[in-house]
Amino acid sequence: MLHPARLWKPLKDGKVQCRLCSHFCIIDEQEHGKCGVRQNVDGQLMTKTYELVAALNVDPVEKKPLYHFLPGTETFSLGTQGCNFGCTFCQNASLSQHPKTGREITGQKVTPEILVEATIAHKCDSISYTYSEPTIFFELMQDTARLAHIKGLKNIMVSNGFQSPDCIEELTGLIDAANIDLKAFNDVFYRDTCGGRLNPVLDNLKHMKTNGWWVEVTTLLIPGKNDSPDELKEMAAFIANELGKEVPWHISRFHPDYKMQDCPVTPMEALQRARKAGTNAGLEYVYIGNIPGNESSATFCPDCHKELIKRFGFEMTKTGLSDGMCKYCGCKINGVF
Ligand code: SF4
Repeated sequence: MLHPARLWKPLKDGKVQCRLCSHFCIIDEQEHGKCGVRQNVDGQLMTKTYELVAALNVDPVEKKPLYHFLPGTETFSLGTQGCNFGCTFCQNASLSQHPKTGREITGQKVTPEILVEATIAHKCDSISYTYSEPTIFFELMQDTARLAHIKGLKNIMVSNGFQSPDCIEELTGLIDAANIDLKAFNDVFYRDTCGGRLNPVLDNLKHMKTNGWWVEVTTLLIPGKNDSPDELKEMAAFIANELGKEVPWHISRFHPDYKMQDCPVTPMEALQRARKAGTNAGLEYVYIGNIPGNESSATFCPDCHKELIKRFGFEMTKTGLSDGMCKYCGCKINGVF
């Protein structure tokens, strides 16, 4: 079912320009944008993902991953088919790349009201727009997020961070927390491996922080692709200096997937080297992900260095946190607790 899209403008000869993400696609009549879910129908831009949700689950908020936003709570999580990127290592390609194959978009029929009611019925504190790329189901996210706030729920976005500046502005005041992928710190990787660009992601991260969102950053470390010492040093310096030392950085282990089957699993030493680059840059919370039981998934007090939150997979226990403060030395721990 088609639904009127937002954030676009008409051009000459029946063309339109979509202004939702930093691709700014110019779309001929009856054609689709790069994401495959927005179509120019007789000079009007329409979205195909307003009411068809392809994944719907109750997840621990730690799975997003968000470690400093309402830890230990559950979040009602949803995603449609489609993505504005085409990462060759995508771990969710059957969902994200489906519309680009020309096949019909499928999913469970929902409305913002149904999603918010289900969130309350499942006793979740928040709704997460996740799994594929929420930018491309912006209209559903915006309407659901508005209703969620009215009902006292929080909104979480898990994204590649490639929105247009206008899109970020439209979501400001609605999104409470975001986990944004910083996939590499070089534009060639973004262009050749993801079909995107680095600079809009960096600008958007700064924009989100300025606008008061709680932001955590995730990097999937791929051997030989985005893990050189210089690149990691620059990436860590950007997070620490441009976003803030309090921004948590999640470094995740890569497993071969989709079109990138020729790369090995990330060795533990490489993950530890990346973590060291983060702490050397002054970052206060650097986590290693995708390795259950690893002690680098725990939160330590940046002042007295005592363990405050222990994690195993997506399970957590609060050992040393009281009202968002370290109970050993009284240091305020950054986040929403
Ligand atoms: S959301 Fe991005 S990829 Fe999709 S049509 Fe709009 S500008 Fe293009």
